[in-house]
Amino acid sequence: MEENTSRVALVTGGSRGIGRATVLGLARDGFDVAFCYRSDEEAARSLEKEAAAYGVRVLGRRADVTTAEPVRELVAEVEESLGPVDALVTAAGITRDNPLVLMTDEQWQEVIDTNLGGVYHVCRAVVFGMMKRKAGAIVNISSVAGVYGHATQSNYSASKAGIIGFSRALAKETGRYGIRVNAVAPGFIETDMTAAIEGRALKDVMASIPLKRMGRAEEVADLVGYLVSERAQYITGAVLQIDGGITI
Ligand code: NAD
Repeated sequence: MEENTSRVALVTGGSRGIGRATVLGLARDGFDVAFCYRSDEEAARSLEKEAAAYGVRVLGRRADVTTAEPVRELVAEVEESLGPVDALVTAAGITRDNPLVLMTDEQWQEVIDTNLGGVYHVCRAVVFGMMKRKAGAIVNISSVAGVYGHATQSNYSASKAGIIGFSRALAKETGRYGIRVNAVAPGFIETDMTAAIEGRALKDVMASIPLKRMGRAEEVADLVGYLVSERAQYITGAVLQIDGGITI
């Protein structure tokens, strides 16, 4: 029997990209999977079907991670329908790029509220249950921008650096309860988020990646699947980069 059978995972930002690939990867690994998304109802329903084909229970719910109440309601519904959350993956994220001199307060705030606020709200809603059960694995999706910074992304880089500090603090707080908290920092991954990079900018990106291609969402999902599995029992507080070597 697969080691993860009858465990429950919750993935934020599940309808697209890295979150979507993670939902499918965890379903394949035997997790019952819940996911939330911001708006794309159709994508969510089709993902539910695709993931359920692995023979697990799947629940997709619209929930905005920027405020506490919808997240609390989401977690309560997931725990009632599927059971306690054993693995949490926070993939919901946005970009609103602009050089700082041109950045609007809205662009700053929206990115911080979604990327960092979202991680706070979801971890806050899930962690007490994990502490009571003395088990749990959390993977927060950061970015290489959070480690090294990206020009025109001071908002995004700050939010992703914040996720790293948050994850390490939480790892220290909750290790004694058997909870592991790690961050994954992807480089350029082929998703809707990077689809707008084209022309000269795309050429420059490719030239700077030693492996000469963008990563695939499934490759990030595989790393996440490893981190929440029994095979990663001694890994916590880590920031694992998956970036084709762009940062070396
Ligand atoms: P994407 O745009 O394809 O998907 C983003 C997901 O987040 C969607 O499912 C969307 O519904 C959800 N989302 C956005 N705002 C939300 C909100 N307020 N409430 C609930 N859900 C919300 O993006 P992606 O490329 O799959 O990115 C996933 C994560 O990986 C993000 O945190 C992103 O910052 C990070 N990341 C991506 C890359 C990349 O190159 N694609 C690189 C590094 C890090």
